[in-house]
Amino acid sequence: MTPIDPQDRLICLRAGDPLAETDGMVLPPIAQASIFRKQSMEELHEALGREERSIVYSRGLNPTVQVLERTIAALERGEACRCFASGMGAIGALLFGVLKAGDHVLFVNDIYGPTLELARRLEDFGVSHSQVCGASLEEVESALRPETRLIYLESPGSMLFQRADVAGIAAVAKARGILSAIDNTVATPLLQKPLTQGIDFSIHSCSKYIGGHSDAIGGALVGPQEWLDRIFFDSYLLLGARMAPFEAWLFLRGLMTLPARIARHSADALEVARFLARHPAVSRVHHPALDGNGPAHTGLFSFALQDDSFTRAVAVANRLQLFGKAVSWGGAESLVITGHKRDPGRDSTARLPASLIRLSIGLEGAEALIEDLDRALS
Ligand SMILES: *Cc1c(COP(=O)(O)O)cnc(C)c1O
Repeated sequence: MTPIDPQDRLICLRAGDPLAETDGMVLPPIAQASIFRKQSMEELHEALGREERSIVYSRGLNPTVQVLERTIAALERGEACRCFASGMGAIGALLFGVLKAGDHVLFVNDIYGPTLELARRLEDFGVSHSQVCGASLEEVESALRPETRLIYLESPGSMLFQRADVAGIAAVAKARGILSAIDNTVATPLLQKPLTQGIDFSIHSCSKYIGGHSDAIGGALVGPQEWLDRIFFDSYLLLGARMAPFEAWLFLRGLMTLPARIARHSADALEVARFLARHPAVSRVHHPALDGNGPAHTGLFSFALQDDSFTRAVAVANRLQLFGKAVSWGGAESLVITGHKRDPGRDSTARLPASLIRLSIGLEGAEALIEDLDRALS
């Protein structure tokens, strides 16, 4: 069974956060207001002078969103958290908040495609980047440049779910005064706590497991209070990708069942992955805990076919009946997606097998999903 810290189960239920409760409501009220009146002009001026701490205008702080921010910060064991309109909103705010012209970003491992696209856009503003995949610590070190300001990693990486040496990379960054950030969406704050391993920033797309019901888009950035305050002024307020209070309420509702859902997704995904690993039509299963020795993993993994062709992968995906054909993942319903048509200019897809099929294991039960896969593969 997936090891989940008992303390995290309580945090997800927001036990011990009296501010979250009004009249014993199990969820905080949705503070559906754009502005918040003060008693006097002096009080308003004072609040505007410290907008990173005071509730003035909902493009800055909002009471419902703050409850979610405190909850995610607690799960990540981080000092502070800010929530965004999307995962990309959080990633954009981090990059805009910490980088300036002349800086270099080193991406480590397979990275979510739109993150790399955003990095390509930043080239127009004088920020350069490069990427190392499946790399040893030495390769990471030798890819650093004097102007490297940020190491940005994913572990498990997108699509192939390879692990990176998170603590080792954090130590390399610290020793050279380089900031480090990780996209922790796949592992969730329950299965990986990168800040306790020395990483400076942890990012989540709440649209996946944290929401868990495929009905809301959101993001979170967790890190040191001092940095989050700077990012608040330098990019959060200015880019305006803030989370709405209703979405924050949906994510708080989602978090209440996160530990139970992750335990189920993980167990069923491992069972399905083991079935696929034994299947003669399958060449390789990309699941980091397949051999039973790896760290616990969630419900997202991929596999490739013996007949390594894109058309064959599409045919198999089309034959699946219980897996929705959709982007994203982390909801109650299982989903399937194949690689897109190859674009050889894109380094992010060049490493992937042509027949790669990614599954998000939902809550239908492993037995039914295995039956469906067996039929589609034969
Ligand atoms: C979905 C996703 C994102 C982007 O999140 P959005 O909420 O869609 O903006 C970033 N990183 C990973 C790993 C994702 O899966």
